[in-house]
Amino acid sequence: MVLKNRKIVLKNRPDGALRESDFEVVEETVGELENDEVIVEVEHLSIDAFIRTTLNVNGLHGQAELGAPIIALGTGRVVKSQFAGLNQGDPVFGPMGAQTYAKMHGSAYRKIRIEATEANEKNNGNAGVPASTYLGILGMTTGLTAYAGMLIVGEVRQGDTVVVSAAAGAVGTVACQLAKIKGAKVIGIAGGPEKVDYLKGIGCDAGIDYKNEDVSVRLKELAPDGVDVFFDNVGGDLLDQVLDQIAQGARVVICGAISQYHHLEKVQGPALYLRVAERNASMRGFTVDHYQDQFDKMEKDLSLWMAKGELTLPEHIEQGIDNFPKAMVMLFSGGHKGKLLVTP
Ligand code: NAP
Repeated sequence: MVLKNRKIVLKNRPDGALRESDFEVVEETVGELENDEVIVEVEHLSIDAFIRTTLNVNGLHGQAELGAPIIALGTGRVVKSQFAGLNQGDPVFGPMGAQTYAKMHGSAYRKIRIEATEANEKNNGNAGVPASTYLGILGMTTGLTAYAGMLIVGEVRQGDTVVVSAAAGAVGTVACQLAKIKGAKVIGIAGGPEKVDYLKGIGCDAGIDYKNEDVSVRLKELAPDGVDVFFDNVGGDLLDQVLDQIAQGARVVICGAISQYHHLEKVQGPALYLRVAERNASMRGFTVDHYQDQFDKMEKDLSLWMAKGELTLPEHIEQGIDNFPKAMVMLFSGGHKGKLLVTP
């Protein structure tokens, strides 16, 4: 049977804020398998901020080519295979691209365990999870990122006062809950009263609505002794507002700077970075791929917390590959809570 692929390609390199019209939908026939290739029917696509950084020339995480499918991680099922390690029907995670069928070298994909088998429980405490969990709590760009940033780089400890920005998003939701698991007081920052309610629902001690409240005033009220760990997803002015109120010995974790990705050629740096020196603090950035040697342990810990009900991540799903551009724009406008996914 001839398979038809529907893919989202880059029409124009965006100039400033992303627009749906920067993308277009293209249909093509899926070619025949070549040596060691597989064809995967894509089931979930992870909408990630790094994708935005690939859309311009000299992107931070590689560069999307005009006409090629937009880079995106996802899960899916193998429909045809010439690769020894993968068979038809296997559920996999890996680079899918924004499309309905991916044809790639089989080594690009990792088989995921989604059935509830005894072996799974023994191996990683994972009694069977939906495939989308491998993009969410167990996802490299979500749960593993929050783990690396909060527990390894941020070294969060019992009694710390922790602030997380973009707290109602995917990484933020997991980061807040990890800090609570470790016994910290957690203040989330997000846009709008609905998101502040959401933050309380996931266990945060307090939420700050940066769109309607004065972040500096609220931080003084909520963290009178200063902020011990700041897990920053946003950058720009918000980074300065929190830097001004860090405690002695604070750890400032630079996970991302979503307020800056529309103009990477002119990133706004922190004006108040001298607070780091004054308060004997540290400011350290990271990307999750540097922690690959710890992924197995992270996955095991996250699975256990999830099984105990201490870790949860709501999903916002946009259906249909044609809605991929809408979802990308939404990531920046903040129209979702939790993990943003597209099901092609
Ligand atoms: P997300 O938090 O689910 O979505 C992004 C959120 O950012 C939006 O919901 C929006 O929420 C907020 N936002 C957007 N523009 C903003 C602005 N100008 N000012 C303040 N808030 C803004 O996205 P995610 O995938 O979990 O990514 C979160 C961060 O993690 C990103 O910075 C990303 O680059 C970073 N990340 C880093 C790594 C790593 O290895 N270091 C890996 C993955 C992701 P509001 O409605 O609250 O504004």
